[in-house]
Amino acid sequence: MRKPFATGNWKMNTDSSSSVALAKGVADGSTELAGRAVDVAICPPFVYLQSVIRAVSSSNIAVGAQDVYFEEKGAFTGEISTSMLKGIGCTYVLCGHSERRHVLGEGDELVNKKLTAAIGGGLLPILCVGELQSEREARQTEQVVKRHIEEGLAGIGEEKLSAVTIAYEPVWAIGTGLTATPDQAQEVHAFIRKLLAELYDDEAAQATRILYGGSVKPGNTAELMSQGDIDGVLVGGASLKVEDFLAIIQAAV
Ligand code: PEP
Repeated sequence: MRKPFATGNWKMNTDSSSSVALAKGVADGSTELAGRAVDVAICPPFVYLQSVIRAVSSSNIAVGAQDVYFEEKGAFTGEISTSMLKGIGCTYVLCGHSERRHVLGEGDELVNKKLTAAIGGGLLPILCVGELQSEREARQTEQVVKRHIEEGLAGIGEEKLSAVTIAYEPVWAIGTGLTATPDQAQEVHAFIRKLLAELYDDEAAQATRILYGGSVKPGNTAELMSQGDIDGVLVGGASLKVEDFLAIIQAAV
Protein backbone atom coordinates (compact mmCIF):
# COMPACT_ATOMS: atom_id res chain seq x y z
CA MET A 1 0.00 0.00 0.00
CA ARG A 2 1.47 3.34 -1.06
CA LYS A 3 1.14 6.04 1.60
CA PRO A 4 -0.46 9.25 0.27
CA PHE A 5 1.89 12.16 -0.15
CA ALA A 6 1.06 15.88 -0.24
CA THR A 7 3.86 18.26 -1.23
CA GLY A 8 3.75 22.03 -1.39
CA ASN A 9 6.02 23.91 -3.80
CA TRP A 10 6.17 27.54 -2.73
CA LYS A 11 8.30 28.55 -5.73
CA MET A 12 9.47 32.17 -5.32
CA ASN A 13 6.30 33.27 -3.54
CA THR A 14 7.13 33.65 0.15
CA ASP A 15 9.30 35.99 2.18
CA SER A 16 11.09 35.44 5.43
CA SER A 17 8.10 35.94 7.75
CA SER A 18 5.43 34.38 5.53
CA SER A 19 7.61 31.27 5.10
CA VAL A 20 7.75 30.68 8.85
CA ALA A 21 4.08 31.54 9.38
CA LEU A 22 3.00 29.19 6.59
CA ALA A 23 5.24 26.38 7.84
CA LYS A 24 3.94 26.73 11.41
CA GLY A 25 0.35 26.90 10.22
CA VAL A 26 0.73 23.69 8.21
CA ALA A 27 2.57 21.91 11.06
CA ASP A 28 0.03 22.98 13.70
CA GLY A 29 -2.96 22.07 11.57
CA SER A 30 -1.78 18.63 10.50
CA THR A 31 -0.49 17.06 13.71
CA GLU A 32 -3.10 14.27 13.58
CA LEU A 33 -2.34 13.31 9.98
CA ALA A 34 1.19 14.25 8.92
CA GLY A 35 3.60 11.35 8.98
CA ARG A 36 0.82 8.97 10.05
CA ALA A 37 -1.86 8.81 7.41
CA VAL A 38 -0.09 10.95 4.85
CA ASP A 39 3.45 12.15 4.20
CA VAL A 40 3.63 15.93 3.99
CA ALA A 41 6.50 17.99 2.60
CA ILE A 42 6.92 21.70 1.96
CA CYS A 43 9.47 23.19 -0.42
CA PRO A 44 10.35 26.81 0.41
CA PRO A 45 12.89 28.93 -1.45
CA PHE A 46 16.52 28.04 -0.58
CA VAL A 47 17.10 31.04 1.67
CA TYR A 48 14.18 30.16 3.97
CA LEU A 49 14.96 26.45 4.26
CA GLN A 50 16.68 26.70 7.62
CA SER A 51 14.05 28.85 9.29
CA VAL A 52 11.29 26.60 7.91
CA ILE A 53 13.11 23.46 9.09
CA ARG A 54 13.32 25.02 12.59
CA ALA A 55 9.64 26.02 12.46
CA VAL A 56 8.48 22.46 11.75
CA SER A 57 11.11 20.66 13.84
CA SER A 58 8.63 19.27 16.35
CA SER A 59 6.22 18.07 13.68
CA ASN A 60 6.21 15.29 11.10
CA ILE A 61 6.38 17.73 8.21
CA ALA A 62 9.37 17.15 5.96
CA VAL A 63 11.13 19.94 4.12
CA GLY A 64 12.37 19.81 0.55
CA ALA A 65 14.40 22.06 -1.72
CA GLN A 66 13.12 23.19 -5.10
CA ASP A 67 16.38 22.35 -6.86
CA VAL A 68 19.94 21.15 -6.26
CA TYR A 69 23.22 21.11 -8.17
CA PHE A 70 24.96 17.84 -8.96
CA GLU A 71 28.52 18.82 -8.05
CA GLU A 72 29.54 18.44 -4.44
CA LYS A 73 31.70 21.54 -4.07
CA GLY A 74 33.89 23.92 -6.01
CA ALA A 75 33.65 26.84 -8.40
CA PHE A 76 29.92 26.76 -9.15
CA THR A 77 28.82 30.25 -8.22
CA GLY A 78 25.27 30.42 -6.98
CA GLU A 79 24.70 26.68 -6.77
CA ILE A 80 23.71 24.53 -3.79
CA SER A 81 24.91 20.94 -3.26
CA THR A 82 23.18 17.90 -1.85
CA SER A 83 25.41 17.88 1.24
CA MET A 84 24.50 21.51 1.97
CA LEU A 85 20.83 20.57 1.83
CA LYS A 86 21.26 17.35 3.77
CA GLY A 87 23.41 19.16 6.33
CA ILE A 88 20.63 21.57 7.29
CA GLY A 89 17.98 18.85 7.52
CA CYS A 90 16.35 18.76 4.10
CA THR A 91 14.68 15.49 3.17
CA TYR A 92 13.33 15.94 -0.36
CA VAL A 93 14.38 17.80 -3.49
CA LEU A 94 12.42 18.57 -6.64
CA CYS A 95 14.29 17.55 -9.80
CA GLY A 96 13.24 18.76 -13.24
CA HIS A 97 10.30 20.91 -12.22
CA SER A 98 8.69 22.23 -15.42
CA GLU A 99 9.77 25.79 -14.60
CA ARG A 100 13.39 24.62 -14.38
CA ARG A 101 12.96 22.78 -17.67
CA HIS A 102 11.06 25.43 -19.61
CA VAL A 103 12.07 28.74 -17.99
CA LEU A 104 15.66 27.91 -17.01
CA GLY A 105 16.34 25.54 -19.90
CA GLU A 106 17.24 22.35 -18.01
CA GLY A 107 17.38 19.21 -20.12
CA ASP A 108 16.97 15.57 -19.20
CA GLU A 109 20.72 14.97 -18.86
CA LEU A 110 21.09 17.70 -16.24
CA VAL A 111 17.95 16.53 -14.44
CA ASN A 112 19.42 13.02 -14.33
CA LYS A 113 22.71 14.30 -12.88
CA LYS A 114 20.82 16.19 -10.20
CA LEU A 115 18.62 13.22 -9.34
CA THR A 116 21.62 10.89 -9.21
CA ALA A 117 23.52 13.32 -6.96
CA ALA A 118 20.45 13.75 -4.74
CA ILE A 119 20.17 10.01 -4.13
CA GLY A 120 23.92 9.72 -3.60
CA GLY A 121 23.71 12.53 -1.04
CA GLY A 122 20.90 10.90 0.91
CA LEU A 123 18.07 13.13 -0.33
CA LEU A 124 14.77 11.86 -1.71
CA PRO A 125 14.24 13.29 -5.20
CA ILE A 126 10.83 14.07 -6.67
CA LEU A 127 11.26 13.72 -10.43
CA CYS A 128 8.83 16.04 -12.24
CA VAL A 129 7.70 15.05 -15.71
CA GLY A 130 5.02 16.30 -18.07
CA GLU A 131 4.09 17.58 -21.49
CA LEU A 132 3.45 21.04 -22.89
CA GLN A 133 0.02 21.96 -24.24
CA SER A 134 1.35 21.75 -27.81
CA GLU A 135 2.77 18.29 -27.13
CA ARG A 136 -0.58 17.09 -25.76
CA GLU A 137 -2.35 18.49 -28.80
CA ALA A 138 0.16 16.68 -31.03
CA ARG A 139 -0.60 13.46 -29.07
CA GLN A 140 2.97 13.29 -27.82
CA THR A 141 2.16 13.08 -24.10
CA GLU A 142 3.36 9.49 -23.67
CA GLN A 143 6.45 10.06 -25.77
CA VAL A 144 7.47 13.11 -23.70
CA VAL A 145 6.72 11.49 -20.35
CA LYS A 146 8.60 8.34 -21.43
CA ARG A 147 11.64 10.42 -22.33
CA HIS A 148 11.55 12.37 -19.06
CA ILE A 149 11.34 9.13 -17.07
CA GLU A 150 13.83 7.04 -19.02
CA GLU A 151 16.42 9.80 -19.20
CA GLY A 152 15.70 11.17 -15.73
CA LEU A 153 16.19 7.72 -14.20
CA ALA A 154 19.13 6.67 -16.40
CA GLY A 155 21.64 4.68 -14.35
CA ILE A 156 19.32 4.45 -11.34
CA GLY A 157 19.14 0.81 -10.31
CA GLU A 158 16.15 -0.80 -8.66
CA GLU A 159 17.70 -0.52 -5.20
CA LYS A 160 17.79 3.26 -5.61
CA LEU A 161 14.35 3.66 -7.16
CA SER A 162 12.79 3.37 -3.71
CA ALA A 163 14.24 6.84 -2.95
CA VAL A 164 12.39 8.36 -5.91
CA THR A 165 8.92 9.87 -6.15
CA ILE A 166 7.59 10.74 -9.60
CA ALA A 167 5.36 13.78 -10.13
CA TYR A 168 3.30 13.97 -13.31
CA GLU A 169 2.73 17.65 -13.94
CA PRO A 170 1.23 18.53 -17.32
CA VAL A 171 2.80 21.92 -18.03
CA TRP A 172 -0.48 23.34 -19.36
CA ALA A 173 -2.09 22.71 -15.96
CA ILE A 174 0.57 24.36 -13.78
CA GLY A 175 -0.55 27.68 -12.36
CA THR A 176 -3.17 28.04 -15.07
CA GLY A 177 -6.30 26.97 -13.21
CA LEU A 178 -6.67 24.17 -15.79
CA THR A 179 -6.53 20.76 -14.16
CA ALA A 180 -6.19 17.49 -15.98
CA THR A 181 -9.43 15.58 -15.45
CA PRO A 182 -9.05 12.64 -13.08
CA ASP A 183 -9.35 10.34 -16.12
CA GLN A 184 -6.68 12.22 -18.09
CA ALA A 185 -4.32 12.16 -15.10
CA GLN A 186 -5.00 8.50 -14.32
CA GLU A 187 -4.29 7.53 -17.92
CA VAL A 188 -0.81 9.06 -17.75
CA HIS A 189 -0.14 7.75 -14.22
CA ALA A 190 -1.05 4.21 -15.37
CA PHE A 191 1.27 4.67 -18.35
CA ILE A 192 4.09 5.74 -16.00
CA ARG A 193 3.53 2.74 -13.76
CA LYS A 194 3.57 0.39 -16.72
CA LEU A 195 6.77 2.02 -17.94
CA LEU A 196 8.38 1.58 -14.50
CA ALA A 197 7.39 -2.09 -14.57
CA GLU A 198 9.15 -2.43 -17.93
CA LEU A 199 12.25 -0.54 -16.80
CA TYR A 200 12.42 -2.27 -13.41
CA ASP A 201 9.80 -4.82 -12.41
CA ASP A 202 6.21 -4.93 -11.26
CA GLU A 203 7.08 -4.84 -7.58
CA ALA A 204 9.20 -1.71 -7.99
CA ALA A 205 6.52 -0.07 -10.12
CA GLN A 206 3.82 -0.84 -7.56
CA ALA A 207 5.95 0.56 -4.74
CA THR A 208 6.76 3.88 -6.45
CA ARG A 209 4.62 6.87 -5.56
CA ILE A 210 3.36 8.92 -8.49
CA LEU A 211 2.01 12.38 -7.60
CA TYR A 212 -0.20 14.57 -9.75
CA GLY A 213 0.49 18.31 -9.99
CA GLY A 214 -1.29 21.06 -11.89
CA SER A 215 -3.81 23.41 -10.28
CA VAL A 216 -4.59 21.02 -7.44
CA LYS A 217 -7.11 22.59 -5.06
CA PRO A 218 -9.05 21.47 -1.98
CA GLY A 219 -12.06 20.86 -4.23
CA ASN A 220 -10.39 18.52 -6.74
CA THR A 221 -7.94 16.58 -4.55
CA ALA A 222 -10.23 13.78 -3.37
CA GLU A 223 -11.40 12.94 -6.88
CA LEU A 224 -7.85 12.93 -8.23
CA MET A 225 -6.71 10.79 -5.30
CA SER A 226 -9.53 8.30 -5.88
CA GLN A 227 -7.78 7.20 -9.08
CA GLY A 228 -5.85 3.95 -8.69
CA ASP A 229 -2.46 5.25 -9.77
CA ILE A 230 -2.54 8.74 -8.22
CA ASP A 231 -0.72 8.49 -4.90
CA GLY A 232 -0.48 12.11 -3.93
CA VAL A 233 -0.30 15.69 -5.08
CA LEU A 234 2.34 18.31 -5.79
CA VAL A 235 0.73 21.65 -5.09
CA GLY A 236 1.89 25.12 -6.08
CA GLY A 237 -0.54 28.01 -5.62
CA ALA A 238 -2.87 26.30 -3.15
CA SER A 239 0.05 25.39 -0.88
CA LEU A 240 0.54 29.10 -0.13
CA LYS A 241 -2.66 29.27 1.94
CA VAL A 242 -2.62 27.34 5.20
CA GLU A 243 -6.35 26.44 5.09
CA ASP A 244 -6.19 25.30 1.48
CA PHE A 245 -3.10 23.17 1.93
CA LEU A 246 -4.52 21.65 5.13
CA ALA A 247 -7.75 20.83 3.27
CA ILE A 248 -5.67 19.20 0.53
CA ILE A 249 -3.73 17.14 3.09
CA GLN A 250 -7.04 16.04 4.60
CA ALA A 251 -8.48 15.17 1.20
CA ALA A 252 -5.35 13.24 0.23
CA VAL A 253 -5.85 10.72 3.04
C1 PEP B 1 3.70 23.27 -9.16
O1 PEP B 1 4.27 24.27 -8.74
O2 PEP B 1 4.34 22.25 -9.33
C2 PEP B 1 2.27 23.35 -9.46
C3 PEP B 1 1.65 22.26 -9.82
O3 PEP B 1 1.65 24.58 -9.35
P1 PEP B 1 0.06 24.87 -9.29
O4 PEP B 1 -0.51 23.94 -8.24
O5 PEP B 1 -0.06 26.29 -8.89
O6 PEP B 1 -0.49 24.57 -10.63
